Amino acid sequence: AAAGQMQPSNPTRRHFTIDDFEIGRPLGKGKFGNVYLARLKKNHFIVALKVLFKSQLEKAGLEHQLRREVEIQAHLQHPNILRLYNYFHDARRIYLILEYAPRGELYNFLQKSGPLDEQRTATIMEELADALTYCHKKKVIHRDIKPENLLLGLMGEVKIADFGWSVHAPSLRRQTMCGTLDYLSPEIVEGRMYDEKVDLWCVGVLCYELLVGKPPFESASQSETQRRILKVDVTFPPSMPVGAQDLVSKLLRFQPSERLPLAQILVHPWVKAHSRRVLPPCAQKAS
Ligand code: ATP
Ligand code: MG
Repeated sequence: AAAGQMQPSNPTRRHFTIDDFEIGRPLGKGKFGNVYLARLKKNHFIVALKVLFKSQLEKAGLEHQLRREVEIQAHLQHPNILRLYNYFHDARRIYLILEYAPRGELYNFLQKSGPLDEQRTATIMEELADALTYCHKKKVIHRDIKPENLLLGLMGEVKIADFGWSVHAPSLRRQTMCGTLDYLSPEIVEGRMYDEKVDLWCVGVLCYELLVGKPPFESASQSETQRRILKVDVTFPPSMPVGAQDLVSKLLRFQPSERLPLAQILVHPWVKAHSRRVLPPCAQKAS
């Protein structure tokens, strides 16, 4: 019920202000502002409050991208997608009211704990395949699935965050060449038209990185990484489980149409054998 009141689609939607919240510890720093643990004074509902400065967004010319991110994420409701409950603004700031992911970024977990075991990795594969099936049905492509953009819920379940690069399919939008190239698919590297099958490629790269500890095309230079992506130059260490090798080799295909569909990830023998996915009870019925 608490979450239901915060939905933008709810006709009795509340218009929030910062005074409705008690602000707790900072959860992290973003490029355009910070994220804080917060709770609604009224009913003690815990959220993550992302605070963005209008002046910085305007300077970077990113208001449109933020608007799209917010509009897309506000309409997605799935146990493995970080909820965006609502948003509000004042003279200088924009506030996003987000679901709180208590276990933080998958990226930090990987840094700390090293490669994941088969059970954890297969579970994440099932969660992502289910969440992306939901996105693709709504014609939303995420495009930027990687450990930095995956948060972890209370039970360690994955929450897709950061829809900043997501688009409605199909698209010819340009990728700005900043940050890591490791997760870029061949069609994006080549600047071709692409569709939702870019997400299949990213899921393959992620599965490899989770089990091996580094992404498959990692190289000393960006041009070398691009070259290896275009050749699909992937080698599997002997320590990698053969079932996972089979899955990844079916996702990392140059031709988008040849990549294993999401429905096939869900029934892949290695995923079936090792996934221990549990759905949080509150995810089973919406608000
Ligand atoms: P960047 O683009 O550099 O990743 P950003 O502007 O997208 O930054 P976020 O990634 O959204 O900012 O948030 C910054 C950090 O705050 C994250 O790395 C994460 O550790 C933490 N954080 C963000 N949202 C949440 C959340 N809902 N629950 C828990 N922690 C969060
Ligand atoms: Mg981020």
